[in-house]
Amino acid sequence: MARAYLDHNATTPLRDCARIAMMNAMAINGNASSIHGEGRSARKLVEDARRTLADIFDVTTGQIIFTSGATEANNAILNIYRGQRILVGSTEHASVAACDVPHEFIPVDVHGIIRTDVLDEMLRAGTVGLVSIMYVNNETGVMQDIAAIADIVHKYGALLHVDCVQALGRITFTREAIKADFITLSAHKIGGPFGAGAIIMKAGMVMTPFITGGGQEKRMRAGTENIPAISGLGTACAEAVNEISEFQKLEIYRAHIEAALLENGYPVFGHGASRVSNTICFSYGKNDNAKDAQTLLMAFDLGGVALSSGSACSSGTVQDSRVLKAMGADPIHTRSALRLSMGYTTTKQDVDLFLKIWDKVRG
Ligand code: PMP
Repeated sequence: MARAYLDHNATTPLRDCARIAMMNAMAINGNASSIHGEGRSARKLVEDARRTLADIFDVTTGQIIFTSGATEANNAILNIYRGQRILVGSTEHASVAACDVPHEFIPVDVHGIIRTDVLDEMLRAGTVGLVSIMYVNNETGVMQDIAAIADIVHKYGALLHVDCVQALGRITFTREAIKADFITLSAHKIGGPFGAGAIIMKAGMVMTPFITGGGQEKRMRAGTENIPAISGLGTACAEAVNEISEFQKLEIYRAHIEAALLENGYPVFGHGASRVSNTICFSYGKNDNAKDAQTLLMAFDLGGVALSSGSACSSGTVQDSRVLKAMGADPIHTRSALRLSMGYTTTKQDVDLFLKIWDKVRG
């Protein structure tokens, strides 16, 4: 049976280039900290990946720290500011929003856009160490005006962390362009492997070591480097960034699907805001009798279409989406909210299959 994988925001199929890079890396048996030839070969792969990221974000290699993914990276950054006031967007990913470091939430409007007037007031009310706001929302695809937010944050002497996980490979940006003090990334959202990510810092930023012991990653993040994963991250990143103009063409499919949804009275969340080209968060809820998202997901899955309900990272548990709640969405709508997210493997056949099953499921 034909299947359409439309859950790229949860994870993206591994790119061939990343698979090959990882297989090659696995053939090297050196530890990147060793002085011998094998060790130097391993080190080269790590430093090649670092150079790739440095070129993409227009930073020096010294501004990049590899991590096991964005959850670790986001936690590490919030932890540096433990004990100071930390403000985070109310639609952040759980790795920020539910991070075990005390923080206050900045409200968003009905489209999911940060209320910069309230952010300004919160900053003015007392000294803030860190503000953490994602570039692109994983559930809705809504984009924030990060450079404008950075100006407000910096006016009050605070620092800005930007979770760029869902922006990488979707839109073009550099560290300088968004004026972020810290950027965090994850490999598996761009066709790289699970278990690899990075922190990119503004030049001159002092980072407190967050995993201690060995001397890896300039003593900031101790532990023997995961050479295949880092190599896969660098390789996937280069290809994903090269293909951004292709990725942006997904907008044609998005417009086609959204027109069908909206014409039939199904709400699309964040529709009034700028969004990336691949994400549609929509609801089946028109009244109290609407099926819940879990039931709908299973119906789509049986029809060969892989979608997600709210945030895929918390799926498996039926919970109303915290993101949609923060946007003030009607509970009738949030209960039956689904997310469709396309990516580099998406074809017209996938879109057609979705529309066919959607027609069946809505009955
Ligand atoms: N931030 C965002 C916006 C995400 O979408 C995700 C992954 N769902 C993460 C952080 C966490 O990334 P990782 O899976 O690498 O821990």
